Amino acid sequence: MLKYESISELIEAAEKTGEKISGIVLEDQAVSLEKSPLEVYEKMELDFHIMCASVKEGQKKEQRSMSGLTGGEGFLMNEYALKGKSLCGEFLSKAISRALAVAGCNASMGKIVAAPTAGSCGILPGCLVSLYEDRGFDVKDIVMSMFTAGAFGLVIAERASIAGAEGGCQAECGSAAGMAAAALTEVMGGTPSMCADACAMALANQLGLVCDPVAGLVEIPCIKRNVSGLMIAFSCADMALAGIEAKIPADECLDAMREVGDSLPASLKETAGGGLAATPTGIRLRKQVYGD
Ligand code: SF4
Repeated sequence: MLKYESISELIEAAEKTGEKISGIVLEDQAVSLEKSPLEVYEKMELDFHIMCASVKEGQKKEQRSMSGLTGGEGFLMNEYALKGKSLCGEFLSKAISRALAVAGCNASMGKIVAAPTAGSCGILPGCLVSLYEDRGFDVKDIVMSMFTAGAFGLVIAERASIAGAEGGCQAECGSAAGMAAAALTEVMGGTPSMCADACAMALANQLGLVCDPVAGLVEIPCIKRNVSGLMIAFSCADMALAGIEAKIPADECLDAMREVGDSLPASLKETAGGGLAATPTGIRLRKQVYGD
């Protein structure tokens, strides 16, 4: 088990040793799992390659979800990105395609890495596979940043929540955006406290997001929410790297996330009883899948 109960403790530990967050987390994990750091690293690298494969799978033209409600979004976005005319530019548009692809791969029961959950599985690969494939970062740096993402995720899970059924979508896509923002910041050479700032800003930007999956399936709005999480992660990492600080520290954002999650009604916690799931179209789509 990770020994950090707060993000501030994690940052303090990294700053004290002068190491990156990922370095101390890898060492801690090796000790707690009774494995060598190399074995722990290799397992994480395997997860990264699963992420890369899930991007490819989800970008196939014929990709469709089991329900038939969604499919092909990763393919369409990739085609559009490659035309070089998108508003976001080729790099971000391809990253969007990757997030859509992995979330679509999940909806078609493909193999993904839940990071932290299946519903939010496109955000971290959308960010990291893009740095690896389009910016030429070394695989080792990318894989190491996944330890940083994981460490933030563990604190989030302990101090707030990573389950839509408990805390709403802020706990799934919000957590994934926070984890990805921290990982991106580390890969780009940011300090541990910049990683915490990036995470805090990403969490603050998703606070209050409800969980309202149409027909109770992790497709609508989940697949596209992975895109907003990815965009928030990139922008918050860039803000932190530019020297912009989070005004509310990450741990306090987590406490706020828990409080907001606790006050959400059950209809907005994965029950498909409210929000988009309860719109006329949401109800029609549910009937399309399950009948009357
Ligand atoms: S809406 Fe709910 S099921 Fe969908 S990704 Fe968000 S938390 Fe998960």
